[in-house]
Amino acid sequence: MRASIEVADIFRALGPGYRAARAGHLSLDQLKVMSAIETCRTVIMGGHVEACTDCGHWRVAYNSCRNRHCPRCQGAAARTWLAEREADLLPVGYFHVVFTLPAEVADIALQNKAAVYGLLFQAASATMTTIAADPKHLGARIGITAVLHTWGSALTHHPHIHMIVPGGGLSPDGNRWVSSRPAFLLPVRVLDKLFRRLFLTRLMALHEAGRLAFHGSLASLADRRTFLRHLSPVRKKRWVVYAKPPFAGPETVLGYLSRYTHRVAISNSRLVRFDKAGVTFRYKDYRRGSADRQQIMTLTADEFIRRFLLHVLPKGFH
Ligand SMILES: [Zn+2]
Ligand SMILES: [Zn+2]
Repeated sequence: MRASIEVADIFRALGPGYRAARAGHLSLDQLKVMSAIETCRTVIMGGHVEACTDCGHWRVAYNSCRNRHCPRCQGAAARTWLAEREADLLPVGYFHVVFTLPAEVADIALQNKAAVYGLLFQAASATMTTIAADPKHLGARIGITAVLHTWGSALTHHPHIHMIVPGGGLSPDGNRWVSSRPAFLLPVRVLDKLFRRLFLTRLMALHEAGRLAFHGSLASLADRRTFLRHLSPVRKKRWVVYAKPPFAGPETVLGYLSRYTHRVAISNSRLVRFDKAGVTFRYKDYRRGSADRQQIMTLTADEFIRRFLLHVLPKGFH
């Protein structure tokens, strides 16, 4: 049997040294996440007594940190969230649409998390509701549930939004349900173009207003012309990666959501080893065929912690 390793073990062993070596270079949000993960369910958090009123059995349990980024604490949070969303589900088919940012924009996002992740939500939802409202397409007011993920499979920075959309919406007068075709919601090409245009227009407005900050290798982007040149290749790229086929039924949507919400960059179950060589974990390499997609990677512990902390969200995102 494999000894079970947790992200907390790595942070407890090496977090203090990592912080000491980077004093002044970690954000307050990152420091808070490190401290939460290191102390979660330890004596430092205090505890409570759980007792059974029938048999009298009792035990002491340490308190959880409940931090959004703690892999241990996500299970319970996800169950509560799901129970609340369950009440919102409609008895119709649901679609899954994914919006991604190209690498050139992802770099800017990393230095401007709140502004650019916020913009990603705004542009993705405005795209969906605008195209759905267009009588040439659905001609209805739709509802959406959107979840932000900032990571790729190997903890790399790859911001994208998963969106769950019911297959229809309310007619403009609000009196009638307008159904989409069963296997088709909105044309991806059209979504792609509008999303790119909305996002880039608003990103440029943020730049104009001095609301973006650039450091290190991106410092030159503070200049408007350099910024525009940096963005020119992304105008030719496709942005919306895909719209997946509809879910079978409301239960499948919930099952799916439970796998996607309240995720952190890596779950404890993907960790294989933590030793002198570093941290070994499972990841999926999507460039390979589905049979051997499941791969193993080892990173030095420092690099593992660095990648994990890339995904710490600013205040207001959860
Ligand atoms: Zn925790
Ligand atoms: Zn994702």
